[in-house]
Amino acid sequence: MDHPDKFKDYDSQDEGSSFSDSQTHGAFHSHFMESVQPLIELIDSLRMIGIDKDIDLPSIAVVGDQSSGKSSVLEALSGVALPRGSGIVTRCPLELKLRKLKKGPWSGTISYRDHNETFHDPLMVENLVKEAQNKLAGNTVGICDELISLEISSTDVCDLTLIDLPGITRVPVHGQPDDIGNQIKNLILKYTAKSETIILVVVPCNVDIATTEALRMAQDVDPDGYRTLAILTKPDLIDRGAEREVLNIVHGKVIPLSKGYIIVRCRGQSDINNKIPLSKAMEMENNFFRNHRYFSSLLNDGKASTRCLADNLTKELVDHIKKSLPYLTEQIQTKLLSVQRELKNYEQSPPVEEELMGPFLSDVRALRIKHTIYPS
Ligand code: GDP
Ligand code: MG
Repeated sequence: MDHPDKFKDYDSQDEGSSFSDSQTHGAFHSHFMESVQPLIELIDSLRMIGIDKDIDLPSIAVVGDQSSGKSSVLEALSGVALPRGSGIVTRCPLELKLRKLKKGPWSGTISYRDHNETFHDPLMVENLVKEAQNKLAGNTVGICDELISLEISSTDVCDLTLIDLPGITRVPVHGQPDDIGNQIKNLILKYTAKSETIILVVVPCNVDIATTEALRMAQDVDPDGYRTLAILTKPDLIDRGAEREVLNIVHGKVIPLSKGYIIVRCRGQSDINNKIPLSKAMEMENNFFRNHRYFSSLLNDGKASTRCLADNLTKELVDHIKKSLPYLTEQIQTKLLSVQRELKNYEQSPPVEEELMGPFLSDVRALRIKHTIYPS
């Protein structure tokens, strides 16, 4: 295995300056891209060969109450319309792999169970995800913990892998089991409890942040907030007079989080009804913050806008991957050793002498039993 050397190369690179460049230029610096992409691809290739069944890989999980704006944030980051509506829309974990292309046409690939489909029209995403959810979780309002993977390669996205999870609810709707709230929480916990997961908590600005279930769940698994980043949505819907309180939240004066807060303005229902494209929505978002009496300073501080969120998330994910690599290498090495040891036990071929066959078979049988009872 050549991992340790690969890791050393990445560790010796210094992206500090390029991250800040990318924020001020509002676009991805090519040096920045070159140093980020191999790391994210390395983790994805490990995921592809199924290592994540044995070892937890770094990822970003998006959690929030229903209608807090999770899909809108993911849409803004990916530039692709995802299924949305009222009630429970995300019913299976959806892994959204965004891959930045230097040039070339947009392409998407959706995979789940033994289904794998590549397509070239972004407008197909919504229906393909709905179809996948219906197949995995049934054509109703139930949920399922099987993963749908959606890879999008485009010149307009940043390199990120995010996992969208069903929104937190308390009251079951018609057709949902009584324990749907717990089922959803358990599914969310499966991802957020892992120390390799960055938790992206989505909270609307117009609710009392201290009482949001999503933030409480994140605090339960990450009490010091080392891997929790909060996104505040719907800043255009806050009551007049509440702006200062929102500023206090963004500055971490209400609930401190070491990764902090970023505020974004996504498309509201009327923007969607008016068919405002995502590119125009980003322009509107920038104007909204630039002209805002209270929030314009946040834009300069790198605490507002979807663009700033994308840059920050990539930086967080890359830092997180770098920190996890030595531990991942160690875990892979331990697994490899134990498999090699086991393999050694099977090295001997059957004897040619008839009288030795009996003892040989009982040895093999004993080994099998040992590995069934004490799997390595
Ligand atoms: P999810 O259930 O958490 O995925 O929430 P959605 O992304 O579907 O958003 C719920 C509703 O809030 C939708 O009607 C969105 O258009 C709206 N919404 C999301 N973000 C914003 C925002 O920043 N401003 C406004 N005005 N509406 C938003
Ligand atoms: Mg949603």
